[in-house]
Amino acid sequence: MERVWVGIGSNMLNPQQQVDRAIWSISKLPMTRLVNFSSYYRSLPLGDKNQPDFLNAIIILDTNLSPKSLLSHMQYIERKQGRIRSLNSLIWQPRTLDLDILLFGKYFIYTPELTIPHHGMLNREFVLYPLMALDNNLIFPDGRVITDIVKTVPKNGLDFWKE
Ligand code: AMP
Repeated sequence: MERVWVGIGSNMLNPQQQVDRAIWSISKLPMTRLVNFSSYYRSLPLGDKNQPDFLNAIIILDTNLSPKSLLSHMQYIERKQGRIRSLNSLIWQPRTLDLDILLFGKYFIYTPELTIPHHGMLNREFVLYPLMALDNNLIFPDGRVITDIVKTVPKNGLDFWKE
């Protein structure tokens, strides 16, 4: 059993419903238990500023799935909720659902389809602040602590999601 942290984002087609639905689907995954989930946050979009704010949340899972199998389940859930993958994935565009595996136990994984810890998570306020709210004592696989990392990243307008 490994403890896994997953980041969820949505800024299209009723983000709150998208994220509720994603958490429900994830809670039904085989060999997996939903341990906890964060509050819902509102963040300013990366990339193209001319798009709606994002709803972001984090969930904690315990799973016996492999990282690769968990990724395929996440991609299936993204597709089910209408995510259309852009040919140019370097462009940050609006999305109905984005699921990122942030941490998988204490593993470092560098394969063509998976980078864990997730690239970019260390400088994204919408990942770090919800992580810290869920576990103030979180230690990264490289030994760094969440409270130190958060100090290096401004909130950039991050707030709770209020409808
Ligand atoms: P994005 O469009 O930003 O969601 O990126 C999707 C691509 O990122 C997929 O093709 C995944 O194979 C790849 N990827 C690499 N590392 C991860 C990760 N830790 N979690 C989710 N997707 C990942």
